[in-house]
Amino acid sequence: MSLFTQSAAWVSDEHRMFADMANRFYADELVPNIERWVEQGIVDRSFWHTAGQAGIMGGATPEEFCGAGGDMGFEAITIYQQTRTGDCGWGYGIQSIVTHYITAYGTEEQKARWLPGLASGEIVGAIAMTEPSTGSDLQAVRTRAEKDGNQYRINGSKIFITNGQAADLVITVAKTGDAGGSKGISLIVVEPDKCEGFSRGKNLKKLGMKANDTSELFYEDVKVPLTNLLGDEEGQGFYQLMNQLPWERLLIAIQALGAIDFALEQTVAYTQERKAFGQRVMDFQNTRFKLAECKTKAEVLRSFVNDCIARLIDGTLDAPTASMAKYYGTEIQNEIMHECLQLFGGYGYMMEYPIARLYADARVQMIYGGTNEIMKELIARSIDL
Ligand SMILES: Cc1cc2nc3c(=O)[nH]c(=O)nc-3n(C[C@H](O)[C@H](O)[C@H](O)COP(=O)(O)OP(=O)(O)OC[C@H]3O[C@@H](n4cnc5c(N)ncnc54)[C@H](O)[C@@H]3O)c2cc1C
Repeated sequence: MSLFTQSAAWVSDEHRMFADMANRFYADELVPNIERWVEQGIVDRSFWHTAGQAGIMGGATPEEFCGAGGDMGFEAITIYQQTRTGDCGWGYGIQSIVTHYITAYGTEEQKARWLPGLASGEIVGAIAMTEPSTGSDLQAVRTRAEKDGNQYRINGSKIFITNGQAADLVITVAKTGDAGGSKGISLIVVEPDKCEGFSRGKNLKKLGMKANDTSELFYEDVKVPLTNLLGDEEGQGFYQLMNQLPWERLLIAIQALGAIDFALEQTVAYTQERKAFGQRVMDFQNTRFKLAECKTKAEVLRSFVNDCIARLIDGTLDAPTASMAKYYGTEIQNEIMHECLQLFGGYGYMMEYPIARLYADARVQMIYGGTNEIMKELIARSIDL
């Protein structure tokens, strides 16, 4: 199983070669480490450098900023091939989002400063929107950035931040003005090693995605230069966030597809091997029908995802359509993990079988990146004009 559908017109020979290369890279460098990273609650820092050297990251970063200069299809492949191994610990999804923000809104100076490191793994990125008192209602953020001479002074806190322990660069959503609602919000880049007053809480214990570090972040009079405002105009943060939604949401659907393909492969192998009542578990009609249902849903998602990638590349993917991909992809991911685990019987509940981990990992996909209820609200708004 591959990311690509037979008829996907966006796929070139370069994309196929890149997928093969990424597949080999993950088999050699990532798969042997998955269980250890789960135990330690974080991916080795050295893996970021290894991935950078192998050319896995920055597929769509312009060549002048040390990227590969390709289209977003390359980023889609990096994400799919990772989750196709059963891994969701390496936080490249967020790195890709951060890279995309800086590419889209950064000044030339900011791009030159940060994009090369994000492509090489020298810099690990995070994006800090959610706060203890607000998640879905992003306009209600309380973190403030006050102008103080040629600096911003930032106060507030964030929660559930992916790559929070490892991050060297945190795009921070903060209020910069007194304008209410969306108008007073800006994105400010905080580099933890370069400023005082920034601290990280402990690596949070989660139900799944245990190798992916998630943290609270605290800002106490954190001072950053005014030039760390992303872009050159204050108050554009909400608009910048909204414009990036298509990739953020499609990315989660691609992660869902990769995990589904891995789970189905594992489940087919197990049910062909396992015997009950003198026959293979695969030979029960229930097993065959369940797998047929799961496979059908996976192929519907694959087609939709390929269509969305093509539209992302040509600039026509809108936020409601990407929200449909995120909503549908993560719902069927959870349904399929549930069915696959059941077909493993008691072994499916044991952590030594990857299906148990995949089942737990899937749950949060319906929550982060905008909950599925928020996805449905956005989709509904596009219908009820
Ligand atoms: C593992 C993990 C990683 C994460 N990584 C990041 C990250 O890197 N950066 C970041 O900024 N955030 C991150 N988050 C936060 C995540 O995006 C939020 O948890 C999510 O947006 C929901 O916000 P909330 O938790 O405050 O829930 P709430 O907004 O309090 O929602 C609670 C419930 O109410 C529902 N609800 C809320 N509003 C509506 C509405 N209008 N209509 C219908 N139902 C509604 C929600 O759907 C949900 O079911 C992460 C979260 C997790 C668990």
